[in-house]
Amino acid sequence: MQTVLFNETIFGPVRSRRLGLSLGVNLSPRDGKVCTFDCLYCEAGYNAQGPGTTGLPARAEVARLLDERLRAMAAEGELPDVITFSGNGEPTVHPEFAAIVDDTLRARDRRCPAARVSVLCNSTMLGRPEVAEALRRVDNAILKLDSALTPTLRALDRPASPDFTAERAIALLEAFGPKAIVQTLLTRGTHDGEPVDNTTPAELDALINAYRRIRPREIMLYTIDRRTPEQSLQRIPADELREAAARISSATGIPVQVSA
Ligand code: SF4
Repeated sequence: MQTVLFNETIFGPVRSRRLGLSLGVNLSPRDGKVCTFDCLYCEAGYNAQGPGTTGLPARAEVARLLDERLRAMAAEGELPDVITFSGNGEPTVHPEFAAIVDDTLRARDRRCPAARVSVLCNSTMLGRPEVAEALRRVDNAILKLDSALTPTLRALDRPASPDFTAERAIALLEAFGPKAIVQTLLTRGTHDGEPVDNTTPAELDALINAYRRIRPREIMLYTIDRRTPEQSLQRIPADELREAAARISSATGIPVQVSA
């Protein structure tokens, strides 16, 4: 079992494959994980490790720590390219997520106006108007859709809600509108003796149909990069990712960014 990735509320900066020099905001506990999914590939480990003891960070504490870190980075002459909400779980489950987004946008405007604000989100909370509105206010709302086929989505992402289907995810993303950037992690392997694979032609066809409905401004295709809780999962070769990206972009007309 892996332990949590980030033991701070404001972490990094880290050089991200997808985002550049990224200062992280972790709205989950510093010693546990809270997520509405329990993905087989989650770099923060499985939810079974528990939520820890520190609780979710308070809004005022997040604002104070972020301001402190941005001032320190400015003093060192290295400002972030992006402030990224990610961390040990799903940021949008924080009850003050929308207010924290607004605090963060103000801090960005004050301390590093050239930086973008990104949120890595698993899409499960998009049905809450205040969450969707807050995500529309950030520069990059990067919203997960790993499969357009319910059995695969449920096997790979393991949503906590028994009602969360691929159709539900697609409908939420479609309603979110054209500011969405959809992120899809491609992998294959087995779990509990069952194959898990979102790279087959049928999977890509279903994803293409879903992207056509959602019409995001961009699609991000990527694969696993670090050790995953389900260790049978494979990193997809760069050539295969690029081939999938070419097929998706030619079928949908939507730009596809590949992080290999
Ligand atoms: S949605 Fe993100 S944080 Fe949640 S289990 Fe999946 S990879 Fe981990």
